[in-house]
Amino acid sequence: MTFEANIKLEDSKPVVLVIDDSQDVHRLLKARLRSEELTLISAVGGAEGLITAGTAKPAIILLDLDMPGMDGFEVLRSLKDSSDTAQIPVIVLSALASPQDKVTAFDLGAVDYITKPFDLTELRVRVRSALKMHALLQMLSQRAKIDGLTGLWNRAYFDDRWREEVARAARHDRPLTVAVMDVDHFKSINDTFGHPAGDAVLMGLGKLVQRSCRASDIPCRYGGEEFVLIMPDTTPEDAATLCERLRQGLMDIQWPRHPERTVTMSVGLAGAESACAMDPGAWVEAADRNLYAAKKGGRNRVVWTSVGPAKLVRAAS
Ligand code: GH3
Ligand code: MG
Ligand code: MG
Repeated sequence: MTFEANIKLEDSKPVVLVIDDSQDVHRLLKARLRSEELTLISAVGGAEGLITAGTAKPAIILLDLDMPGMDGFEVLRSLKDSSDTAQIPVIVLSALASPQDKVTAFDLGAVDYITKPFDLTELRVRVRSALKMHALLQMLSQRAKIDGLTGLWNRAYFDDRWREEVARAARHDRPLTVAVMDVDHFKSINDTFGHPAGDAVLMGLGKLVQRSCRASDIPCRYGGEEFVLIMPDTTPEDAATLCERLRQGLMDIQWPRHPERTVTMSVGLAGAESACAMDPGAWVEAADRNLYAAKKGGRNRVVWTSVGPAKLVRAAS
């Protein structure tokens, strides 16, 4: 498992959104930025620009200020108010050149300000620099969510993502299952073969989980020698089949540092076939109880239960 394995690498060119009421500006920018490594998309007004920014999630935005209807200042304010778009660097591209307009734009969160008519060479380097900043910010925020040893998502990411997945499954009436995995007698692996051997086991288990689950599954390191796997759109029964395969797969690994000693794990699962009103924390606790039952039952086994369906009562609106 490499760090990159879990990161959605940008496989396409970064998207730059131009919000300007003048078609001439769109045409000019399309022609002059053609040679750059970017994809240009256009919105011809403030309101349209806001919608496009929310859906297309561009890497940067070039924003005109003087537009009929919703002007650029208003667009900037709305972009910064929404958590979906607040991180997108905005370069103001405007004929307004007074210090007051510039100060207002920077106060509202613009990262740069270019006055029209603009010099194309200058525009290019400023766009490049904003794109570089965007890429660095993305990398930093990804790193904060990745476990350094295994390359899987970390606990903080799990906590956020799990809440989201529980809400999504309830909203769309979809199955959802979570598995908690814990290496058996891991302490004795550390004690007998040394801490690096223990680390190698954790990395190996991380690789096994990553390789064996679906692209839509979300494998995380919960902490220590515990892993959690979120399986959206998966019934507890199907998830148990996958975990059984993982359990077997781990047992089959021959470890270079201790070929004579196999490693096993116990797994507890809790899942719902359809919309379930369970609190996300209580749901993980249910999986944890099954993990405990697996340990008590002799380890190296999978225990699962269904926590649903308990249909949500939706408020009439
Ligand atoms: P059980 O079968 O009941 O799960 O027993 P166990 O020995 O696996 O569980 P226990 O919780 O007693 O021990 C977990 C050990 O995991 C203790 C801790 O030192 C070790 N550990 C936690 N994080 C790491 C790590 O990053 N690397 C290594 N090598 N060891 C770790
Ligand atoms: Mg443990
Ligand atoms: Mg353990």
